[in-house]
Amino acid sequence: MIGVTVLGATGSIGVSTLDVIARHPERFRAVALTANQDAERLAEQCRQHRPNYAVMVNPDAARRLADLLADMPQPPEILTGVEGLEQVAALPESQYVMAAIVGAAGLRPTLAAANAGKRVLLANKESLVVAGAMLMRAITESGAELLPIDSEHNAIFQCLPPNFSQGLAEVGVRKILLTASGGPLRDWPIERLSSVTPEQACAHPTWSMGRKISVDSATMMNKGLEVIEACWLFGTDTDHIQVVVHPQSVIHSLVQYDDGSVLAQLGNPDMRTPIAHAMAWPQRFDSGVAPLDLFSVARLDFQEPDMKRFPCLALAFQAARQGGTAPTILNAANEIAVAAFLDRRIDLPGIAEVVAGALDALPEEGVEGQGVEFLLDVDRRARECAEQLVVRRSA
Ligand code: NAD
Ligand code: MG
Repeated sequence: MIGVTVLGATGSIGVSTLDVIARHPERFRAVALTANQDAERLAEQCRQHRPNYAVMVNPDAARRLADLLADMPQPPEILTGVEGLEQVAALPESQYVMAAIVGAAGLRPTLAAANAGKRVLLANKESLVVAGAMLMRAITESGAELLPIDSEHNAIFQCLPPNFSQGLAEVGVRKILLTASGGPLRDWPIERLSSVTPEQACAHPTWSMGRKISVDSATMMNKGLEVIEACWLFGTDTDHIQVVVHPQSVIHSLVQYDDGSVLAQLGNPDMRTPIAHAMAWPQRFDSGVAPLDLFSVARLDFQEPDMKRFPCLALAFQAARQGGTAPTILNAANEIAVAAFLDRRIDLPGIAEVVAGALDALPEEGVEGQGVEFLLDVDRRARECAEQLVVRRSA
């Protein structure tokens, strides 16, 4: 029996993970579930999955959760705060940790899981963007396993040979082709992008996801974060990654080899496929996802991304090339800008302006030899700077 800690259990990835766990009760048990403040949802999940621990980051919500579960015969131990998250990420009774918190808030618990030598199922791409070098080092040094959950990276992982960590050139890989749906605004007139509402930005054509990643998909910052994520996961650089817009989201990414072969992974757009892949790996089992019907797909289209329409993608490439703290600043400024857009304080094009402004205003520093406190301090400063830019822009 494999114990699983699900960080971010109440979110879109968390719910899909619990669905996969429930399909394989002989093999997996949810040992700990965590959420930020949705006590009602977490209480329901605790009744169904009977974990040993439940973490509510928000202390008021933790008290509410305790009240909601008071009549359970064996209620979970309730923990709170980031310390609670770190504790359940490193539990001896959990072998697998699903990292599905959204944003840089996922960094500390993801690092804790990596340091504790777990199989880390990584959905929280922001933690690699913020602290890629540190997280990859923690994985190697502790002997942890890192399995990508992001559908594109999971697809690439499936298309690479098992010894890819020797170096992509070494194993005959010429390029990674990272697919992107282009999001809901792919065909909007550019001059109307400033009138896009949060509802329109979150109405993704092919995937159903949390609000932050949905806005990131609309601006294609999501693809930019994924380029940085791919650099760390597969030990490569931006010159070896090409973004390909593919509106149907059926091909989840491809790998191009020196001999002209191109391998792709296909499937219906449902995150239970990469989740089940990473949980069963190196075996395979049922995920609950319907088999792909190529006749109903009928056609697959491809386009080059339009960097004018999607300046966030260009900014992410720029930050990836700069390295150092630039990706940390990019991510923090984007989190602030997306929240401001969802609160209707800035318009959609304002997101790229805030991110560009923060990258300009803050010095890029090297990260060699730095610890997590340094990166979290950069993250804090970038958030303050971005908040000022939001205020200036909305005034
Ligand atoms: P979501 O908003 O649906 O869920 C986020 C989860 O994180 C919730 O459980 C919430 O309680 C928790 N959380 C939020 N803020 C927190 C904080 N400050 N501290 C602790 N916990 C906090 O998000 P999602 O769509 O499930 O995405 C989760 C992660 O997975 C993101 O990094 C996203 O980029 C990545 N991802 C998601 C998808 C998808 O299909 N949803 C696909 C690929 C990657
Ligand atoms: Mg993705």
